[in-house]
Amino acid sequence: MEAFVIGSGPNGLAAAITLARAGIAVTVLEAQPTIGGGTRSAALTLPGFTHDICSAIHPLAASSPFFSKLPLEQYGLKWIQPPVPAAHPLDGGRAVLAHVSVKATAAQLGEDAERYRRIVTPMTAQWSELMRDILAPLHVPAHPFALARFGALAIWPASTLARILFRGEEARALFAGMAAHSILPLEMPASAAFGWMLGLSAHSVGWPLPRGGSQSIANALASYLESLGGKVLPNSEVRSLDDIPAGSLVLCDITPKQLLRIAGNALPEWYSRKLERYRYGPGVFKMDWALNAPIPWRNSACSRAGTVHLGGTLEEVAKSERAAWQGEICERPFVLLAQPSLFDSGRAPEGKHTAWAYCHVPNGSMEDMTSRIEAQVERFAPGFRQTILARHTMLPAQLEEHNANLVGGDINGGSARLDQLFLRPTASMYRTPVERLFLCSASTPPGGGVHGMCGYHAARAALHDLCNRPHRARPGIREYSLPARPEAPQSRARSATERSSTPSPSETEQARP
Ligand SMILES: Cc1cc2nc3c(=O)[nH]c(=O)nc-3n(C[C@H](O)[C@H](O)[C@H](O)COP(=O)(O)OP(=O)(O)OC[C@H]3O[C@@H](n4cnc5c(N)ncnc54)[C@H](O)[C@@H]3O)c2cc1C
Repeated sequence: MEAFVIGSGPNGLAAAITLARAGIAVTVLEAQPTIGGGTRSAALTLPGFTHDICSAIHPLAASSPFFSKLPLEQYGLKWIQPPVPAAHPLDGGRAVLAHVSVKATAAQLGEDAERYRRIVTPMTAQWSELMRDILAPLHVPAHPFALARFGALAIWPASTLARILFRGEEARALFAGMAAHSILPLEMPASAAFGWMLGLSAHSVGWPLPRGGSQSIANALASYLESLGGKVLPNSEVRSLDDIPAGSLVLCDITPKQLLRIAGNALPEWYSRKLERYRYGPGVFKMDWALNAPIPWRNSACSRAGTVHLGGTLEEVAKSERAAWQGEICERPFVLLAQPSLFDSGRAPEGKHTAWAYCHVPNGSMEDMTSRIEAQVERFAPGFRQTILARHTMLPAQLEEHNANLVGGDINGGSARLDQLFLRPTASMYRTPVERLFLCSASTPPGGGVHGMCGYHAARAALHDLCNRPHRARPGIREYSLPARPEAPQSRARSATERSSTPSPSETEQARP
């Protein structure tokens, strides 16, 4: 049996590895000249400055039950933990930090401290069990009580829940910043799920960044795949399923819009109609800067954080997210900013720095957000503009040109609203009505982010169908015994180490700005 994976994003590579470990000959076909999809890095501004084109910060990769079982460190992946996962500055020089320590985080929250600690501590303790259930398609949960506790808090609209649970501006703003990663209006049910997921991940695995940029994740996955006998072919756009040898197993790391394009004729009409009804969410406007100095934060504690959420209060963050959803431009957008070179000196020449940021905008928006984003940075870091040596911007259409999966600038392969959260893109999820044709991208459960779990679960579905094994109700990674898998030959390893690739705050490099 020969298998082809269309697309070399983290899910495509995870699917290919899962198939290769099952002894299947697999080739990954990538449209672009470079591999990695949403995990690519390049010198976007000036020579010597390395920027992450898409993903930069990886709590989900760190939490991934699949990635944590792969020997990625042997293939060059090295995680760096900034001393503080995230910071959320507020006007007047205040800032609230999401520390790895729940206690230290709670200590900043005044009257909300005890409640924050009481809610977050037990869920943090069960994080890895929770992630096995959350980063999986709908199933009978392996840890029903932990999941029920999480679900009872996750199902709420983030803004309502923040107002019910917390009294102070700090706790509300911190939670709003986390929840805004959902790219949903914070008034929408289940937007709180993202707030908890990202908040809890900060306390459990930190928010690490890969040394050298997110390209290192793709390179490590591809090298490991090659060690298993798999191949990755860049410059190999699949325009039609007819490009692929008949009878092959095909896993598509693409979204419904592209599946309709390349497989349109092969798909029954009822399924095509369902794919056409699939909804993409708001897009993003992306910025990268080469800087001649670190960002001059008014509150210097922000320099210890890998990620900084710029948007002020809960109300301001909610207004920005609502605008993007409603097709409007927000004058003071919520900005997600990362400052990798503070913790990974190889990203910029000596004494110089990089910064990465984006804000949510209406899908396909042509509005240049440069001055609005820079005004938000300047608001919390006066003098920022004077540090800029060069800037690089990407409109949603330019992101889509860079990677066809970023439809209208949607970075999650489709909106994560409630009706598309669990069953995406259709109720059959990874399976299509065409035999041996599967979807494995972020448009399938558990959705967007660099975790590889869509690819892993899609490949498992394909292996299940191929082997005609009885359906297993609990898709936790530990319960699945793969057919005999070849060991990675040591000669291919870039640096031999016994460690697993899971970056826990205690075992990874602790960088200091
Ligand atoms: C600006 C931005 C910032 C982000 N920040 C983060 C972050 O900090 N942390 C995080 O966890 N996630 C982040 N994400 C999201 C993350 O990058 C994606 O959710 C993730 O990459 C999805 O993985 P995937 O494998 O499903 O698809 P992708 O990574 O999008 O890969 C799809 C691949 O398929 C290829 N392809 C498409 N069509 C074809 C075809 N016809 N033939 C051959 N190849 C094809 C594409 O070129 C691409 O390489 C960000 C995304 C963006 C755009």
